[in-house]
Amino acid sequence: MPILCYHSVARGWDDPVSIEPEDFERHCALLARTGDTVPLSAVEDRLGAGAPPPRHAMVLTFDDGFADYLEHAVPIMERHRLTATMYVVARSMEDPDLPVDWITGLDPADAPPLMSRDQVRMLHDAGWDIGSHSMRHLDLRTLTEDECRRDLGESREILSDLLGRHVTTLAYPFGFHADHVRRAAARAGYTCALALPSGPEEPGPYAVPRVGLYRGNGATTFRVKTRPGYLGLRYSAGADRTRRTVARVTGR
Ligand SMILES: [Zn+2]
Repeated sequence: MPILCYHSVARGWDDPVSIEPEDFERHCALLARTGDTVPLSAVEDRLGAGAPPPRHAMVLTFDDGFADYLEHAVPIMERHRLTATMYVVARSMEDPDLPVDWITGLDPADAPPLMSRDQVRMLHDAGWDIGSHSMRHLDLRTLTEDECRRDLGESREILSDLLGRHVTTLAYPFGFHADHVRRAAARAGYTCALALPSGPEEPGPYAVPRVGLYRGNGATTFRVKTRPGYLGLRYSAGADRTRRTVARVTGR
């Protein structure tokens, strides 16, 4: 099964990144029937060696650190005995007023709150895995390699200090990366880094593919997107017809 990527589970936030709690509950019920979830950190050595996650291990990830994670996603996952890894924008640990200016079409003034430093620490202490989503959620491709390394190194230090353990997994903001970004992630001390392909992409330890789940994705779409080989099917060269069919079924 592919590694899954969510952002927000909230009621009535009409944005592609936000899933209604009832839909997320359906996803979790299907997952719980399939097997066990593990935090990304449990498979990072394997991913860092360039291997895919083991077949039996399902991995859920969340990006951005929205506070609705605590209100909706965590209680639902607890009910279904699932776990996940949250990727936090580290600067928000130091600056609670950090504007959420990275959601397309969203006025930062209308953005839902991010988790506070105390909430992230509490979550980690309760056994929930945390990773880095960079310092400020910039498109890392627009930075130089040294600027990327500084951004990724600093975010790793802030989170490691906060949590009292080495944070070694990274999710690229927007899933965007390039040669120099991947090199910077390795130089900054990460074991592996997660992408979010929207087209054909060569997988590797610093380009671990994930499948994004979005608003309106119900049980049928979820089943399609969590099939083994979904990404290969959707993004392999020459799979245009399959890709169009899948896009029609899933809406993405
Ligand atoms: Zn993000």
